[in-house]
Amino acid sequence: MAAGSIPLGTCAELRRALDTGSVSAVQIVETALARARTLDPMFHAFLGMREERALEQAAAADARRLRKEVLSPLDGIPIAIKDNLAHAGEPTTCASRILSGYVSPYTATAVARLEAAGAVILGRTNLDEFAMGSSTENSAFGPTRNPWDRTRIAGGSSGGSAVAVAAGIVPVALGSDTGGSIRQPAACTGVVGLKPTYGRVSRYGLVAFASSLDQIGPFGRSVADCATVLEVIAGHDPKDATSLPESTTLSCDKWNGDVTGIVIGLPKEFFCTSGLDPAVRDRVHEAVAHLEKRGASVREVSLPHTKYAIATYYLIATAEASSNLARFDGVRYGHRSAEAHDLDTMYQATRSEGFGAEVKRRIMLGTYVLSAGYYDAYYRKAQQVRTLLRRDFDQAFTQCDLIAGPTMPEVAFAMGTRTADPVTMYLSDVYTVSANLAGIPGLSLPCGFHDGMPVGLQLLGKPLDESTLLRVGDAYQRETDWHLRRPPERTA
Ligand code: GLN
Repeated sequence: MAAGSIPLGTCAELRRALDTGSVSAVQIVETALARARTLDPMFHAFLGMREERALEQAAAADARRLRKEVLSPLDGIPIAIKDNLAHAGEPTTCASRILSGYVSPYTATAVARLEAAGAVILGRTNLDEFAMGSSTENSAFGPTRNPWDRTRIAGGSSGGSAVAVAAGIVPVALGSDTGGSIRQPAACTGVVGLKPTYGRVSRYGLVAFASSLDQIGPFGRSVADCATVLEVIAGHDPKDATSLPESTTLSCDKWNGDVTGIVIGLPKEFFCTSGLDPAVRDRVHEAVAHLEKRGASVREVSLPHTKYAIATYYLIATAEASSNLARFDGVRYGHRSAEAHDLDTMYQATRSEGFGAEVKRRIMLGTYVLSAGYYDAYYRKAQQVRTLLRRDFDQAFTQCDLIAGPTMPEVAFAMGTRTADPVTMYLSDVYTVSANLAGIPGLSLPCGFHDGMPVGLQLLGKPLDESTLLRVGDAYQRETDWHLRRPPERTA
């Protein structure tokens, strides 16, 4: 069979193959690169590859293995990173023209930790510009397509990372999640995505969108692989004042598929959302029933302020974005307009040329809600509702260990159908944004299909309790094979 025609398995499988010597890291990386060459023209998951450096890193991993100096379970394993993570000597585009020509002088902590663990950074993945979107259609370099159906969205904003995993190019990838950008594309493409607790993973080197919500996390085919990546990237970082001191012990080796005693809460508000596709609801109920058979118990809980989550999120996220994106002014980073002859017109022309429509919309909205006359009515009010949303979770978690529901109200929709109506696009985040507003961890994992497209189950956990989410997700994957299904490989 031609090199690259075989999809790469999970990290766990690759690690076993490396351990037995049946394959080398160089062969794995060559396969990943060959698959990217064949498949990526169809999907556009990547914005840039690191062929030479990746092969050098793989050769170094092979040499370490020979010396019996393996650094971690990720040593020699290829991983893709979302192109809003800084990597020294590489471009960081955020899928925006405003960063054209920019090369990062430093490396994000999460990426540095991967490299220190021996992981091979294969390339940079596509995203909605500055991570603003739910479909990866807002990339200045063209959309990413869903490998299950190329006429449908990959989800967003980390659509490139999700597709790189779903298409079997890499076993794992990094994304960022401000309001669902890891979980939602994971659901759309049939892979696992984890948004850790706010502060679990350092945001140093992640280009800021909404700093009180942003969090880096992994994509993988299996829950166990996401756990492996989380253990490597998590932990306190003096370079990010919001990173938490707590250590991340997941005890994956003790997971045995038993979920006896776990109480799963089903928020009644999640199941009466008007846009919820009944087929998605049914798949989620089936998955929960499955966990019940394995020993979990289920009870109804309430998150009464859910209906305000989208409005609250889009006020806070845009306010923070308008402030964070002020730094892209043509002076320090990337693009500078050639048209400008004085400072003010230089700012204006640079930003008009450099930012896409959705980014401009958010900057304007955010500037408006922060402006003197409207601050109390919008921004302050949103902060107050954010507290109520957080209290909803505190209250619900007195009655259950984790919360289950859909990741998305429907399966991946057709490309081009929502771009003209931003509010309809925003509604696809209805189940994901509250976890960011409350700072809690969220996991999306495949739980079936509808209309030939994957459906995502979302599990939400108590702050810092990734361990329960992952253990329960792993138990589900021991008994089901949704995560092992592969999209059809089209070669034309
Ligand atoms: N879809 C949401 C938005 O457009 C979330 C994006 C994200 O998590 N980065 O803002």
